[in-house]
Amino acid sequence: MFDAVILAAGGSMRMGKDKLSLDLGGDSVLSRAIKPFKSCPKLQNIILAVKKEHFSLYSDFSNGIILAEGGKTRTESVKSALRFVTAPYVLIHDGARPFVTAELIENVYDTAVKYGSGIPALPFSDSVRRIENGFIRECPDRGGFCAVQTPQGFDSMKIKAAYSKLSENDAFTDDSEVYQKYCSAPAVVEGDPMNKKLTSPADILGISAKVGTGFDVHPLAENRKLVLCGVEIPFEKGLLGHSDADAAIHAVMDALLSAAGLPDIGVLFPDSYESLKGVSSLSLLALVTEAVRKKNLKIHSVSLTVIAEKPKLSPYRQRFAETLSAALQIPEENIGIGFTTTEKLGIIGEGRAIAASSIVSLV
Ligand code: MG
Repeated sequence: MFDAVILAAGGSMRMGKDKLSLDLGGDSVLSRAIKPFKSCPKLQNIILAVKKEHFSLYSDFSNGIILAEGGKTRTESVKSALRFVTAPYVLIHDGARPFVTAELIENVYDTAVKYGSGIPALPFSDSVRRIENGFIRECPDRGGFCAVQTPQGFDSMKIKAAYSKLSENDAFTDDSEVYQKYCSAPAVVEGDPMNKKLTSPADILGISAKVGTGFDVHPLAENRKLVLCGVEIPFEKGLLGHSDADAAIHAVMDALLSAAGLPDIGVLFPDSYESLKGVSSLSLLALVTEAVRKKNLKIHSVSLTVIAEKPKLSPYRQRFAETLSAALQIPEENIGIGFTTTEKLGIIGEGRAIAASSIVSLV
């Protein structure tokens, strides 16, 4: 049997905000880091080290979980949590590693039972260099080096004894170092590349993003204005549709709605609505962005491709980007706009229609 110590008292200094409460697919980072432990039949207790002033914030977790007062350093937090450990083995885990699996937990536990310790380690894929004052001074053979992860498993008596030998100001970045220094050489178990520690904002970019795609096509007809991305373009024909038939904005709207899990524009703005006749699609886009914001989602990036044989649209790229940037309230560098033809093939190639497709990401 083992107790799990989960460390959640860090300051998230490098993240700039409380990374443990960030949403990962509807669950917090910390909750995801704890869940796989709960599914292990050998688990006895979970001990969560948090700052004392945050005890009340963790009432959701307190069901069956022991709260330990976290310290100023990682080492102090582990020391504090170890006092509550009563099982013969303990697995110490960073609350900022939400992708830990039950399989890794079991491997670490089994190794700790066999050797007194079990440390997940991964070989470096990049070369390792020792740097001094901005210059590489040493090129060690990376073959002997590994990056270590958590959870790290130990014989409870041994790791408690090792921690009892620490002096007041000793601070370590992990527990294998304490064990190695005051007990014996820790045993290694194969780490998991997916078991990442979330440290900087870049670590979560993309993880919690929602992506949606949209596509639209409208026929070209005489006596119609050609409006794309809200920009009126001089041309002998225009797109035919109930609204202004702005296929580019329609594709973006459907991508946004799809990413947010909302029904498409055909459902939200049906052709049967007389009030929508000839309406500017930019005004519909404003309603769509409002609906996205109501779901507490932020538009991160938009990619749009307009597919037309004629007219030549690339001179309008900048104006399209400016219009979308203003309408969506996102920086232009997060907007990608491309143009293509269908090499004279099909209805678009014959100049009978213009289509647009879009992919967006929301966070
Ligand atoms: Mg349409």
